[in-house]
Amino acid sequence: MLAVWKSKPEEGLEIKEDTEVPKIKPNEVLVKVGATSICGTDKHIYEWDKWAQERITKNVPYIFGHEVSGEVVDVGEATRGIKKGDRVSAETHIACWHCFQCKTGNAHICENVKILGVDVDGTFAEYVAIPWQNAWVNDPSLPHWVATAQEPLGNAVHTVFDGEVAGKSVVIFGMGPIGVCAAGLCHAAGAEKVIAVDPQDYRLKFAEDFGADVLLKPDGKHLERIMEETGGRGPEVMLEISGSSHALRDGLEVLRPGGRVSILGIFKEPVQVDVTNNIVFKGAKVHGINGRKMFESWYTAAAFLKSGKLDLSKLVTHRLKLTEIEKGFEALSSGEAMKVVLEP
Ligand SMILES: [Zn+2]
Ligand SMILES: [Zn+2]
Repeated sequence: MLAVWKSKPEEGLEIKEDTEVPKIKPNEVLVKVGATSICGTDKHIYEWDKWAQERITKNVPYIFGHEVSGEVVDVGEATRGIKKGDRVSAETHIACWHCFQCKTGNAHICENVKILGVDVDGTFAEYVAIPWQNAWVNDPSLPHWVATAQEPLGNAVHTVFDGEVAGKSVVIFGMGPIGVCAAGLCHAAGAEKVIAVDPQDYRLKFAEDFGADVLLKPDGKHLERIMEETGGRGPEVMLEISGSSHALRDGLEVLRPGGRVSILGIFKEPVQVDVTNNIVFKGAKVHGINGRKMFESWYTAAAFLKSGKLDLSKLVTHRLKLTEIEKGFEALSSGEAMKVVLEP
């Protein structure tokens, strides 16, 4: 089969046409990939930055990629509830199901987690093997090229619905695909006002399209604008999806006392914040968000798609052949791309 390998611990990738189709274990299903998409993580792996060097080196050579939608073509004898012909996406956190976290309903922060396309062979291929527990059955009407983007939507669901948003003012920092989905979810779920912050016009346009009410660039005047837009009291909810330390400090600064902060962004370095004034005295609730709740986030994401209240297809800016994957990475580097979908 065709597969995209990270074959050497350096920048780049290798496309191989003679890769063996994975042999499934008894607990796995074999998925014929209909569409796979590029995530920020894949870009780190492709470019071989510091994170990738530290995290991935021991796994090379292997097949990367983790966002997927495809059809089940084989099932192992120990699988349950998944049958040949099902259209599935993959939850990318492969949990152990026997640690403390897994046994207490927190499989998304499993102590022994393995990540699809990071620790085990991934989805940039014609076929991928995944544990049956990780196969999420899609509505048959959802095309593969849209269903593949559900994994980032699931991240947005987890972040947005970490607390209430109906009737509340929400500021969201970072308008990549997850931030844009978060804006769309807040709007659909009845937020009073959704304020989107990002330095790029291209991304703010998507936020607007998904229902953001106020679009701001972090230009120094944006904090004043956020206060004005929230009647001088500040937003009740702040979602940090940018991974920028400035954004986190800004968000905490304007947050309304008693407000909620949910942080999905990954920061390159430890961040200094005014804990005393902006968290303790404000009585702020600050939460970290990792992955998707298994599988609550998936049910919620699927419900928003099914109801038509969120049109995920609008996020897909590129549909390329899997062999054109490098073009996809170029498009993402240019800053003029949201979700790049690859079809084998
Ligand atoms: Zn992803
Ligand atoms: Zn576990």
